[in-house]
Amino acid sequence: MELLEERIRKDGIVKAGNVLKVDSFLNHQIDIGLMNEIGKEFKRIFSDVEVTKILTVEASGIAIAAIVAQYFNVPVVFAKKSQSINIDGSVYCTKIESFTHKRVYDVIVSKKYLSADDKVLIVDDFLANGCAADGLIDIIRESGATLQGVGIIIEKGFQDGGKRLRDRGIRVESLAIVDSMDDTTGQIVFRH
Ligand code: 5GP
Repeated sequence: MELLEERIRKDGIVKAGNVLKVDSFLNHQIDIGLMNEIGKEFKRIFSDVEVTKILTVEASGIAIAAIVAQYFNVPVVFAKKSQSINIDGSVYCTKIESFTHKRVYDVIVSKKYLSADDKVLIVDDFLANGCAADGLIDIIRESGATLQGVGIIIEKGFQDGGKRLRDRGIRVESLAIVDSMDDTTGQIVFRH
């Protein structure tokens, strides 16, 4: 997506440790005009599949998924980071290792909001090692719902999450794929 790549080139900041900061338009301040274009683009790409729920993980995924969901006209469900245990069996739960915070979270989704009838599109801001997507896919599998695809705004193609998911036959559509980035020069190269 040209508009997105231009924006990443202009405002993205490459940090040490393979982290791309896009706080000025995606992860802290959010450019709603750009998010609407992203929502339209995901709708165009996934127009061939039925979607009944969009699934993401808190926190940064929520705002993005909510805007994208307007174009699909379906609810957003977000996996919550939780300390509580699944005592009464009312939630699906899994563990997600955070790439940016380097710690493992328990995440849960209430069984009320995801069931075997659902056709789910996962939406997230970044795809790096694929831990967040793996966790959400676990939850979808537990619920018996159908995974229709994974929509990612920025995939870091030099990390293996995208390849691992695609090798499992999962449809992953990323609006921008970064092939390489350099924290000394700030250069970002996209895959086309
Ligand atoms: P993964 O689970 O695929 O390793 O990492 C994906 C999650 O980590 C995303 O939900 C995102 O919040 C965060 N993340 C991974 N890489 C980056 C990055 O380079 N920049 C930012 N801002 N977040 C990232």
